[in-house]
Amino acid sequence: MSNERIVIIGAGPTGLGAAWRLNELGHANWTLLEQSPYAGGLSASIVDEQGFTWDLGGHVQFSHYDYFDRLMDDLLGADGWLTHERESWVWMRDRFIPYPFQMNIRRLPREEMMACVMGLVRLYKEGPAHEKPANFGEWIDATFGTGLAELFMRPYNYKVWAYPPEALDFSWIGERVAVVDLERVLRNIFEERDDISWGPNNTFRFPKHGGTGAVWRACADRLPSERLRFNARVVSVDAKAREVRLADGSTVAYDRLLSTIPLERLVEATGQTELAPWAAMLRHSATHIFGVGLKGAPREDLAKKCWMYFPEMNCPFYRVTVFSNYSPNNVPDITQNWSLMAEVSESPEKIVPGDEAARLEEVIQGMLNTRLIESREQIVSTWQTRLEHGYPTPALRRDEALSQLLPAFDALGISSRGRFGAHRYEVSNQDHSLMQGVEWVNSVLQGGEEITLHHPEIVNAPRR
Ligand SMILES: Cc1cc2nc3c(=O)[nH]c(=O)nc-3n(C[C@H](O)[C@H](O)[C@H](O)COP(=O)(O)OP(=O)(O)OC[C@H]3O[C@@H](n4cnc5c(N)ncnc54)[C@H](O)[C@@H]3O)c2cc1C
Repeated sequence: MSNERIVIIGAGPTGLGAAWRLNELGHANWTLLEQSPYAGGLSASIVDEQGFTWDLGGHVQFSHYDYFDRLMDDLLGADGWLTHERESWVWMRDRFIPYPFQMNIRRLPREEMMACVMGLVRLYKEGPAHEKPANFGEWIDATFGTGLAELFMRPYNYKVWAYPPEALDFSWIGERVAVVDLERVLRNIFEERDDISWGPNNTFRFPKHGGTGAVWRACADRLPSERLRFNARVVSVDAKAREVRLADGSTVAYDRLLSTIPLERLVEATGQTELAPWAAMLRHSATHIFGVGLKGAPREDLAKKCWMYFPEMNCPFYRVTVFSNYSPNNVPDITQNWSLMAEVSESPEKIVPGDEAARLEEVIQGMLNTRLIESREQIVSTWQTRLEHGYPTPALRRDEALSQLLPAFDALGISSRGRFGAHRYEVSNQDHSLMQGVEWVNSVLQGGEEITLHHPEIVNAPRR
């Protein structure tokens, strides 16, 4: 086996996955550099001053890999997890509608239900479109019809992505959006049946203690501590000299570099100015996370819900998680407390106005408007943060930019992987990210193929 010096930038799931695999394969010549004092990246968790635990946005694990599952069992032990049914809902028109929305339009006011059905009927009458949609907006219209598009798909997607659907591609969709089966929609209406996406086979698990971050802290703790360097921020990379420079002025030499920092920042750090126009084509959105700790217990209709989508303009958030439902240990005392976590998107095309206090106020008012809480008196703790890099946007021409950027770096001995390193939304969850790190090591040490990076459609296909 080669004894190349491998340097990894970032101790999120991707960097930790690579480090784990190197260790597993007995390759000892590696160093991991992380700017924060802790591991986890976007999958870290924090505990606020009142003792509420928060993730950086509601994290649940939908694994596509046996390797990932085995590692999760190993890291927290079989007893370290709680398993939940994945109950998700849409709140609109002052009521909860089960997800997927399009299957449950019977819950809408009659006029709106009719508009959705008519839109679908028109689509079926027209037959398959001859031309491929040019963007996500056109794809929505061609898949859902005008009724569903106007009522839910367009407003909701703008709220999540923070870009108009016309600015997005639709190639990322794969398994993520359930498309419409008209016969089933009609049957649900006539039989007055809820068509829910959860059930015995639709479960997810969550750490019993410490939030999602517990997984990644455990992973880092099991790696040789002398190879992990925290508070080590990389400020530049000299691709010719094969050396990274840290904020404290020191340098670290490498033969191969795995970077998990945002791709456009890697372009800046390496001074590869000829790549800058491609990097400028990439888009991302920022995410504001708001934790609201409450006294008492959730209302009965919230007692089993996992997360809820909010397409309407009566609140700034697109999603709220009942975070105390994920683990009773996410709150200081489950007999006295419960908790909600809200997410708000931002981009240059969707500015979130106001300062921190004003934004929090908007979120609390939104929770009142949508009846998640009854009064401000219930609130015993608030916590908020803004993630500049929240979602890697599947913007138009993204793949063209990536097809220039990633190979150009590979040729320099630098591999850019992970949620913002590879910038592919469709393979940017924790399991995908960890496996991007693992598969990168397999390719370097064993000549394996990086399936996750190159073939999202294979890894995201229904579980083998
Ligand atoms: C709102 C939200 C909700 C999500 N929900 C889910 C979910 O439900 N399920 C799921 O599986 N995933 C979810 N994710 C995705 C999950 O957080 C990511 O898959 C995962 O954290 C990506 O790992 P990564 O290592 O690629 O990147 P990151 O987690 O971003 O880690 C990159 C690391 O690099 C470090 N770094 C950056 N720059 C430097 C530098 N210059 N020098 C040194 N270190 C540096 C950072 O500090 C960070 O630790 C969600 C993400 C968000 C934002």
